[in-house]
Amino acid sequence: MQNLINLIQASEDWLIRRILKYAKERGYTRYTSTLEEAWRLSIAGLSASLVQGLLYHSQIPDFGPEDDFLTDPLNAFGIVEAKRHRKRGVSLAMFLGLLKYYRQSYVDLIEEKLPDAEQQARSRRFLERSFDRMEIAFCQEWAGHQTEKLITELQAANRLLTNEKNSYLTFFESLNDPALILNTQYEIINLNHAAAAILHPHATPGAYYYSAPVAVRAADSDAAAPETKSSPLIGRNILDPFPWLATILGHFQTTPDRISNLECDGNIGKMHKYFEARFARMMDVSEKTAAIILILRDISDQKQMEAELKKSEERYKSLFENNHTVMLLLDPETAAIVDANPAACKYYGYDRDTLLQIKMSRINTLSEQQLFMEIDRAKKEKRNHFFFRHRLASGEIRDVEVFSGPIAMHGKQLLYSIIHDITQRKIAEDALQKSNQELDDFAYIASHDLREPLRAISNYSLFLLEDYGGKLAEEGRARIETIIRLCKREEDLINSLLHFSRVGRTDLVCKPVDLNVILQDIQETLRPSFPQENVQIHIPEPLPTVACDEIRVREIFSNLIINSIKYNHRPEKIIEVGARKEQSESKAAWIFYVKDNGIGIPQKHLTKIFTLFKRLHSRDKYGGGTGAGLTIVKKIVERHGGRIWVESVLDQGTTFHFTLQGGGEPEDERATVKAQRSY
Ligand code: ADP
Repeated sequence: MQNLINLIQASEDWLIRRILKYAKERGYTRYTSTLEEAWRLSIAGLSASLVQGLLYHSQIPDFGPEDDFLTDPLNAFGIVEAKRHRKRGVSLAMFLGLLKYYRQSYVDLIEEKLPDAEQQARSRRFLERSFDRMEIAFCQEWAGHQTEKLITELQAANRLLTNEKNSYLTFFESLNDPALILNTQYEIINLNHAAAAILHPHATPGAYYYSAPVAVRAADSDAAAPETKSSPLIGRNILDPFPWLATILGHFQTTPDRISNLECDGNIGKMHKYFEARFARMMDVSEKTAAIILILRDISDQKQMEAELKKSEERYKSLFENNHTVMLLLDPETAAIVDANPAACKYYGYDRDTLLQIKMSRINTLSEQQLFMEIDRAKKEKRNHFFFRHRLASGEIRDVEVFSGPIAMHGKQLLYSIIHDITQRKIAEDALQKSNQELDDFAYIASHDLREPLRAISNYSLFLLEDYGGKLAEEGRARIETIIRLCKREEDLINSLLHFSRVGRTDLVCKPVDLNVILQDIQETLRPSFPQENVQIHIPEPLPTVACDEIRVREIFSNLIINSIKYNHRPEKIIEVGARKEQSESKAAWIFYVKDNGIGIPQKHLTKIFTLFKRLHSRDKYGGGTGAGLTIVKKIVERHGGRIWVESVLDQGTTFHFTLQGGGEPEDERATVKAQRSY
C-alpha cells in the first residue's frame, strides 16, 4: 500500500482541482468557501486521515457490529468536519453528498495514476471501505446529538458568525480609502463609508448594511436589487458616478493580472482630484463571487507636491545649468559631487561625467578629514561663506570664495556651492597688504626719526629764549615762542601718526571682553578731565560680552565719548551708549552706538571726518586736536572685521555706529588677528 500512500501525498494540488471541478459542476460551491486555502485544508486533512488509516489497518478495513467508528484514526478528520459543518448549518444530506465527490476524486486519482490493475483494484477497495467507515462515523456523530443540544450549538455558532461579520463590516467601513465592490458588469454591489462620502458627504457608516432588507443582505452576489438598495450608488455602473475611471477601467479589463494599480484624475463636485485606483479581482476559486474590488486612494496632495517639486527642480535646473557662475551640488555625507553645471566643468577642466565621479577632496586642497571638519563646523555655526584653494584638472591651484548652503533635492539633503575664483583679487589684496604694511613701517620709522630733530629744535629754541631772551626785541622773542609752539603741534601730529601706524602694525589679542566693565572704567577715567562739564552718560541696556582686543576697543569707546563731550555746545551734555543685534546678516551681529546731543556734522563732511588729520574746525576750537582720532577708531574697527558709519543732524547731535568682528560672539580661546590690510 506504500504506492497508494505516496500517490496521495504527492497529489494534493491534483485532488484540489478535481474536487473543485465536481463541486462547481454540482452546485456545491454556492455553499462552500471561496478561498483555495479552505479546499487545501480539506484535502490535506482527508489525505492525512487516509494515510493514517493505511498505516493503522494492515488489511482492507471491514465492518463489524461492535466496531467503534468514533475512535478509529481513519475517521478523526471526518468527525471534526462533521461537527464543523453541522455548526455552520450545513445539512447532513448536503455534507454527505459533497463527501461522495471527495471519494470520487480519490477514486479518479487511483484510476488515472496507478497503472497496475491489481494494485488499482486493491487501492480502490481500500478507499471505498475507508470512506464508508468515515461516513458511518460522522453519521453516528451527527445523529448522536439531541435537538436541544443542536440548537445551543447553532446559536453559539451564530453568535460567532455575527461577531465575525461585525468585525469585517467595521473594518470595511473604517477603511480610510474609498473601497467599492463591483460585479463583472462593473456595477457597484457594495461600497464603504469613505466611498459613499465622496459623493454624499452626509453618508453614515454602516447605513447600507443596516437599512437593506435581510434578504438582500443574505444574498451573495445579487445584493444590488435596485428597489432594495439604501445607497443611491448601489446598482449603478461605476462609470456613472466616476466617468473619469473609463480609461483605466479599459486597461484593467484587458489585463489578466489579478491586481492593477493605476492612476487617474477627475472631478469630484467642483474639485479636481487625483486618485490611485487599485483594482483587484476576488481570490475566489469557486467562481461564486466573480467580483472586483476597487480602492481609490486620493493622491491629490501628493500630486500637487510632486508638481511643485518638479517646477522648483526645473527652476533650479535652469538656474543651475544656464548660470555662468561655477556651481556644484555636493553630498555632505560623502563629499561626493552630485551635480556640476557647465560653468563648473569648464572651470575645473573636467567633463561632467568625470566630475560626478570624483570627490570634493580631489578638488579642495584640504584633506578629506579636514573637509568633513569644515562641513561640520559650517553646519554648527550656520556658516555659508568660505575661502578655499581648489585644484583644477591641469593641477593649477586657485583661490576661491565659496557660498554654500543646504538644499533638498531628489529627497536628499544636499549642499549647493557657488564658487568664485578670487585668485587675482587675492594677489591684489596681498600686494595691498604688503604695501600697507610698508606704509605703516614707513610712517612708523619716519615719525619716529622725525621726532628727534624736532625735539632738538624745540629744546634749542627754549634754550635760546632762556639764555638770550633778554637780548632780543619783543618781536624776536615772540617768533621763538612761535617756533616752540609749532614744534609742539608738529610733535602732536607725529605722535598721532606714530599711534596710527602702530594700530596697523601690532597684532590684535582677541578674547571675550565684558564691555560694561570697559565703559565703567572709561567713565571713571574721563570724569577728572572734564571737571567743569555737566556730562551724563546713559547705558540703557547692559552691553554684551564680545571677543575683541580689549585695549583697542577701549580706545574706540573713549575716542567717541571724548568727541561727544568736546563737540558739544549744550550746558547738559547727554551721551547714550548702547548695542543692538543686527538680524539681517546670516550671523546675528552686534551694532554698537555712541550718541550725543552736540553740534552735529554737516552732511557733506560725514565721510571726510574719517580722513587722517582732517578737522572741521580751526586748530584750537573745541579743545583742539590733530584730526587723527576717528581715523584710528575706523582702523581699529576694521581690523576687528567690522565697519563704522555716522548719522548726524546739525545742531542736534551725532550718532556713531560700529560693529566688531562681524559681531562675533564671545569665544573661549584667545585669538590673535595678525596685523593686516584694511584702510
Ligand atoms: P579731532 O577730535 O582730534 O579733531 P577726530 O578724528 O576725533 O579728530 O575728529 C575729526 C573731526 O570730526 C573733528 O575735528 C570734528 O570736527 C568732527 N567730529 C568728531 N566727532 C564729532 C562729534 N561727536 N560731533 C561733531 N563733530 C565731531
